[in-house]
Amino acid sequence: MRYISTRGKGNPQTFEQVLLTGLAPDGGLYVPESLPQVSVERMLAWKALSYPQLALEIAQLFIGDEIPTAALQTIIEDSYKDFDHPDVAPLVELDDGEYILELFHGPTLAFKDFALQVLGRLLDYVLKKNQQRVVILGATSGDTGSAALEGCRHSDHVDIFILHPYQRVSDVQRKQMTTVPGSNVFNLAVEGNFDDCQRLVKAAFADQSFLPAGRQLVAVNSINWARILMQIVYYFSAALKLGAPEKAVSFSVPTGNFGDIYAGYLAKCMGLPVDRLIVATNKNDILHRFIGNNEYSVTGLSKTYSPSMDILVSSNFERYLFDLFERDGDRLAEFMHAFGKQTLHVSEAQWQQVRSVFDSASVDDETTCEVIARVKAENDMLLDPHTAVGVQSARLCREKSAAPIITLATAHPAKFSDAVTAAGLPVPELPPHMQDLFEREERYQVVPAELQAITGYITENL
Ligand SMILES: *Cc1c(COP(=O)(O)O)cnc(C)c1O
Repeated sequence: MRYISTRGKGNPQTFEQVLLTGLAPDGGLYVPESLPQVSVERMLAWKALSYPQLALEIAQLFIGDEIPTAALQTIIEDSYKDFDHPDVAPLVELDDGEYILELFHGPTLAFKDFALQVLGRLLDYVLKKNQQRVVILGATSGDTGSAALEGCRHSDHVDIFILHPYQRVSDVQRKQMTTVPGSNVFNLAVEGNFDDCQRLVKAAFADQSFLPAGRQLVAVNSINWARILMQIVYYFSAALKLGAPEKAVSFSVPTGNFGDIYAGYLAKCMGLPVDRLIVATNKNDILHRFIGNNEYSVTGLSKTYSPSMDILVSSNFERYLFDLFERDGDRLAEFMHAFGKQTLHVSEAQWQQVRSVFDSASVDDETTCEVIARVKAENDMLLDPHTAVGVQSARLCREKSAAPIITLATAHPAKFSDAVTAAGLPVPELPPHMQDLFEREERYQVVPAELQAITGYITENL
């Protein structure tokens, strides 16, 4: 399997090359040159597999023989062995035709563990083989940071620097990042918002001359292809449990960067019978405006109860647009260069294509809290605010789906207690392994939103 850039330049890359980088040199994102197709027979056989076994099958479709099966199997088994549910990604019924896919049973209580536990181990494997040392640099709106630190902290081959927007992540999120021990682990609180953090990371990747010779930056944001890859697995896992490949299902996905739902789109393209993909957004609704009105434009950032979706621009959307532009990198590059300066539209035919797959909704904070309270009262289930946005979006788009809708529960409610208490409910308890979180010692550095402050800090601490 080879990977190409969405902006159409450069030579195809191997999985390993793509794993060890961020954006492509032309500014695009890497995508597989072609998507593997999964037959009905194969899906039927997959029904009998455990979660790690299924993950291995799917990962191999994209990694090929670049990593030997036995090594990949160990990486994947180790990645999911600390999840606190035997099913890893349990599917539970919420109501008639409504299901919840619980993706918060990993070490940091958010779905990002699914990919980052594997990514950390993949990096370690490859770097050890190459006798190489790298610098991981990432921006987080909260959950990526802790999941990346958890996934990578045991590696002897990385130094990891995570930027989060100062005072804009929840207390639990901050504590989860800043209490991770290790002399190769660094947290930077940037005086700005998440998009400032992303911009700074992008700028550092674009000019890596500040690094000592032989070092390079590696991305752990959802632009890293390996993350997308490992997220495809739970779409197959959930749909197979609900009757695929014979029956179709729909998914409602709380989305910020379009990473999670893009994996669902890939699962559909690979042959999984997915009826509708519902893009569930909060007040930061760039994707909802595009899908609903064919308007692609940046507005102001809103701070919400679902902070992991507080973004202005969804970086992974470019991967989908690449397909929408019939994989014409030059045309997409033109579109992306015009973006940000004006409101963009796609052709009517393209827009209809978008709407043949995706629905969308935008859910405000007030409704989010109402849904948390209602679902607790009616179904005795406590949702985190991101999941509540997903459940409400599923309900708003219910009529458009002929199939049952699975909402991805992207985080544990204890991570976002502000929304839960605003819904009039008591503060949810942290799971046992995190009960002492608030007593652990924090380490982080507050820095201005300036590139030199970031690169200077990195070189001082390598
Ligand atoms: C990261 C995150 C999201 C958004 O995921 P994307 O891949 O950026 O779309 C939603 N919910 C939670 C809890 C998250 O941590």
